[in-house]
Amino acid sequence: MFESLTSKLTVVFGRLGNKGRLTEKDVDEALREVRMAFLDADVHFKVARSFTESLKDKVLNEDILTSLTAGQQVVKAANDELVFTLGGKTETLLQGSKKPSVILVVGLNGSGKTTTAVKLAYHLENEGQITNLVAADVHRPAAIDQLITLSENIGLDVFHMRENKDVSQVAQHGIERGRSLGASWTVIDTAGRSQIDEDLMLELEQIKKAIEPDEVLLVVDAMTGQESVNVAREFHDRIGVSGLVLTKMDGDARGGAALSITSVTGIPVKFIGTGERVDGLELFHPDRLASRILGMGDVLTLVEKAQATFDQEQAHELEKKMRQDTFDLEDFLDQMQAIKKMGSMGQILDMIPGFSSVRNNMGAGDLDGSHLVKTEAIIQSMTLKERQRPELISGSRRRRIAKGSGTMPQDVNQLLNQFKQIRKMMKDMSSTHGQQKLLKMISQR
Ligand code: GDP
Ligand code: MG
Repeated sequence: MFESLTSKLTVVFGRLGNKGRLTEKDVDEALREVRMAFLDADVHFKVARSFTESLKDKVLNEDILTSLTAGQQVVKAANDELVFTLGGKTETLLQGSKKPSVILVVGLNGSGKTTTAVKLAYHLENEGQITNLVAADVHRPAAIDQLITLSENIGLDVFHMRENKDVSQVAQHGIERGRSLGASWTVIDTAGRSQIDEDLMLELEQIKKAIEPDEVLLVVDAMTGQESVNVAREFHDRIGVSGLVLTKMDGDARGGAALSITSVTGIPVKFIGTGERVDGLELFHPDRLASRILGMGDVLTLVEKAQATFDQEQAHELEKKMRQDTFDLEDFLDQMQAIKKMGSMGQILDMIPGFSSVRNNMGAGDLDGSHLVKTEAIIQSMTLKERQRPELISGSRRRRIAKGSGTMPQDVNQLLNQFKQIRKMMKDMSSTHGQQKLLKMISQR
């Protein structure tokens, strides 16, 4: 599922993620491609439009474009927007105070109601909750047999009343049986129709009124794309639906249903069906699905990187040290190692409050990090005490450090002098002039 959509989005966001600053044109172009990819995947046009519009709004309002990690931040914003589109958070089954809790499974013929009812019972039993299945598809004898056969596989028996054609009565008796078994859940499989008609709606309205279920789960076939969205809307308008199950997500569904249905109907997706077998049911996690759709690993890593770059707490800590004049060579070393880990000096500089404007003036050569290697070696040859109190470093210590780091004593001297200036300036960090001077010194090493 989503293969085609994912491969398109991976290309678009991969390209953005690798860019630094962005222009509004870059974003517009990317969003146009995103919208096309969505429409090709059969996403509802309104959903495609509102996704791209809110993403653009966010990008412009949060001043993302001029940041050097703009691309990554756009990817992160897209991820957030997609999670929102998919319903935001993972929804679980509703449970009232009455026991057993009752799930009424409804939907059109062939959508997967009977299979889903059994899968749900299996899922709940696996969680240690006694579950009772009720066959309330009273119009076709074969429907009762199907439920019985499927349930035998998981060792559950099914409550049924072959001679009774009153759905509400069958359901009520079924719930009573659940109560007598001490079941936590009763799952009721109902009849469908090949399409929505008045008879079906009346029957469902009556049964709903009679048993007052905790949950009305509408099962829709994801392979039918936008049609499933229309079905959901009609069922919801008529009988009220509390949750959706999207089945056949293992098939070649293009994903449009999953992406549109909650946004259009306001009903959360609670489960997806991912196979014919009884274990082919997954809780619907909007966040995980979003990263799946966006191409998983690579994009997620990018997002994490961007988040790491904007680790507010770390930035705050650093700022405090600068203000209080307690920034020492040890901190300096930490910063440099962080730079190396992230692969670029640019990202770490952005973490320092107010630095992003300054680094715009730096050449690419200043950012490759190679000039930092020597500095790092020198600091690593110092003792901890020396790093914390550089003023202790005398002539003989200087020679020792130079020897240890493969440098000359004057290199050590130069670093110490620069560091002294850096520290002096750090008290004055809020001034742009101060930041520029500091950067120049670091980058000239
Ligand atoms: P009902 O008429 O709504 O009760 O639908 P059924 O439960 O009888 O399912 C109709 C067909 O869809 C059956 O062949 C099921 O095996 C199949 N089916 C149901 N859910 C899934 C699913 O998640 N994946 C796949 N591949 N097939 C499914
Ligand atoms: Mg059925």
